[in-house]
Amino acid sequence: MYGFEYSKAASAEAAAQSLKDDEDAKVLAGGMTFIPTLKARLAMPTQVIDLNSLPELSGITVTADTVRIGAMTRHAHVAADADVKAAIPALAYLAGNIGDPMVRNRGTIGGSVANADPAACYPSAILGLGATVHTTERDIDGDSFFTEMFETALQEGELIKAVTFKRPDAAAYMKFPNPASRYAMVGVFLSKGSDGIRVGVTGAAPYAFRFAAAETALNADFSTQALENVTIDPDMLNTDMHATAAYRASLVLTMTKRAVDACL
Ligand SMILES: Cc1cc2nc3c(=O)[nH]c(=O)nc-3n(C[C@H](O)[C@H](O)[C@H](O)COP(=O)(O)OP(=O)(O)OC[C@H]3O[C@@H](n4cnc5c(N)ncnc54)[C@H](O)[C@@H]3O)c2cc1C
Repeated sequence: MYGFEYSKAASAEAAAQSLKDDEDAKVLAGGMTFIPTLKARLAMPTQVIDLNSLPELSGITVTADTVRIGAMTRHAHVAADADVKAAIPALAYLAGNIGDPMVRNRGTIGGSVANADPAACYPSAILGLGATVHTTERDIDGDSFFTEMFETALQEGELIKAVTFKRPDAAAYMKFPNPASRYAMVGVFLSKGSDGIRVGVTGAAPYAFRFAAAETALNADFSTQALENVTIDPDMLNTDMHATAAYRASLVLTMTKRAVDACL
């Protein structure tokens, strides 16, 4: 680990200002990704600003139409929250199947969404539920949040404060986990609500995407049979040591069918 200055954030806005003043400063959330990155000397920040001192960034608010989750809310909190379980059970299920107990007890939704790992679970729910990402600067439509592998619409010095998910009529998250890390080899978050069908896919491509062909077919006929003639181009998917693009294409369709079954 390289040396750096450590400080506790006084507020989200103050932390964001510090990032604007020093382009080599970084914020720390759960540390599940950031600390190993520091230990491996893959990052050399001048300052590390700890968001764990800001309880106002934590917590869950459920209304008739939405579920709002503060950026510093741990995955274990989302998984166990009775109001989330009642409002969007698939979201609580997603959080409860992230990594292992250590990761769920430390990792946060803000860190996960900002990090935009191509195999992370929450990005599929952001797209699959039509979420909004609230930052220190603005509200960002979830559909335009993930832009490249590990890249998002966040600008320099912009911090995530919370994420608001729309409550669907029905939803399901189906994940084919990597057996070692539990990250998604492929994860599909499907919802049925006032906007029609939304299908968010993670793990398959460089960044999470909406499966438009499946949404069109399912809006016409919400059944697994409607997906029989739907295909996905493997050329847009990842091949790595865990799976080929062709295998991931097959998994995307299988997980989408399982999600439809679960909703029905
Ligand atoms: C063994 C293991 C297994 C895992 N399995 C899964 C899995 O199955 N599914 C899954 O989805 N994830 C998985 N993860 C990822 C984990 O859930 C965390 O979400 C992830 O590590 C980042 O969250 P964090 O709170 O730890 O953020 P940190 O590691 O503290 O930060 C990550 C990055 O985000 C930035 N950041 C943090 N908070 C904010 C904010 N509010 N605004 C702007 N930028 C911010 C930091 O500066 C840093 O660059 C796994 C991680 C590990 C180590």
